[in-house]
Amino acid sequence: MPGNGVEGGGGGEAEGILRRQAARESAARTYARSLPIVPVRARGMTIEGADGRRYLDCLAGAGTLALGHNHPVALEAIRSVLDSGAPLHVLDLATPIKDAFTTALLETLPPELADHARIQFCGPAGTDAVEAALKLVRTATGRGGLLAFSGAYHGMTSAALAATGDTAARATVGDADARVTRLPYPYDYRCPFGVGGTGGAELSARWTASLLDDPKGGVQPPAGMVVEAVQGEGGVIPAPDNWLRRMREITKRRGIPLIVDEVQTGVGRTGAFWAVEHSGIVPDVMVLSKAIGGSLPLAVIVYRAELDAWQPGAHAGTFRGNQLAMAAGMATLRYVQENRLAERAATVGARMLTRLRGLAAHHACIGDVRGRGLMIGVELVDADADRDEYGALPAAPQLATAVRTEALRRGLIVELGGRHGSVVRLLPPLTITDEQTEAVLDRLTDAIAAADRLARKAKASGAK
Ligand code: PMP
Repeated sequence: MPGNGVEGGGGGEAEGILRRQAARESAARTYARSLPIVPVRARGMTIEGADGRRYLDCLAGAGTLALGHNHPVALEAIRSVLDSGAPLHVLDLATPIKDAFTTALLETLPPELADHARIQFCGPAGTDAVEAALKLVRTATGRGGLLAFSGAYHGMTSAALAATGDTAARATVGDADARVTRLPYPYDYRCPFGVGGTGGAELSARWTASLLDDPKGGVQPPAGMVVEAVQGEGGVIPAPDNWLRRMREITKRRGIPLIVDEVQTGVGRTGAFWAVEHSGIVPDVMVLSKAIGGSLPLAVIVYRAELDAWQPGAHAGTFRGNQLAMAAGMATLRYVQENRLAERAATVGARMLTRLRGLAAHHACIGDVRGRGLMIGVELVDADADRDEYGALPAAPQLATAVRTEALRRGLIVELGGRHGSVVRLLPPLTITDEQTEAVLDRLTDAIAAADRLARKAKASGAK
């Protein structure tokens, strides 16, 4: 029924909704600007807009929807809680649902951590869990400093933002910033040391160790190091396994707790259930959110029991007991495990990388194709420009924006990320079928070709 707010009333109603959104919502809105669609129905990888158009969703709730939209097992779990009469709001009280979720989650984690772990349920956003992790290690160590990486993304609240790399976004964080020592994350394509490969990662590790050991290095004694195993928002940059092992050694040797932010990489996304499994490192703290709530808001930290120096109420919050999210999350964790979806992500992701690398051979504007599992990035560059002083071609943010627009026009939702917003990011559900994979690749191929053509035409007419 048009007008009931759910069915959608065609293109006209969608336009009205979008117009009102632009007039009433804040200037800080994000996806809403680049994806002017009004979703009214969704299933799996497909979103249907109020205008009746259908899209393949390679954004999937910014990597949240491991099983896609409205997966039957998540819906069934939610319905059974609703039908059971269980309270939906319980603060941080014990419930059978929470008990079962905690057991299921701990079973998925590296046993060396999980066997002696504590869990803190946080306010239901990744950023609140990051805040909790930073507070935890500061309390446990009595130190204030923090080691974080260039290109990192950890959230939008103050301490999480201070750990984030984006200089513009950090402009509001004030003093929290001063406690963070920024270290170089290995970024092969734009290696800050100009060498790339294992050499670049090795230099990053040496820089880290030598800075920590230099009494005049200017480092505030660190309470912890926070790292993503694959940087997502930073431009889909997988850390080499060996480099992560080096970070683990360096921090362990110096008594610095290692916090791995698996908010985006968790629950099968990178081709292992948790991204730390690739390198085999055991963090002291893991930050988990997004997919663990089975599409509903949920965030926790899991950490070594020895770090639990908190006083009661040290990290409180009203919404730490989302029963629907715990039930949907537990069903999702189980489904991913039972159906080996991490392996599926590895297989499909590898196939997509191969196809996209093949495409790069035909388009000079594709500077780099990289990823791990179903976290894939295509970095677009200005192929006609001179190389920068590190030997890379400059980023092409306008071209990337055009690719996103052309993709949407072809019924494909992708997001951008990376240092200059020039990396096209693919984060499809792990349940993506072979047919959908082909459709995504075909549409993206066409979108890149179209955007490249338009950019060349504009350049040619500008040059006349
Ligand atoms: N850490 C990482 C690695 C993330 O990717 C994100 C979100 N993109 C966050 C933290 C913050 O999560 P949230 O947006 O739920 O606060």
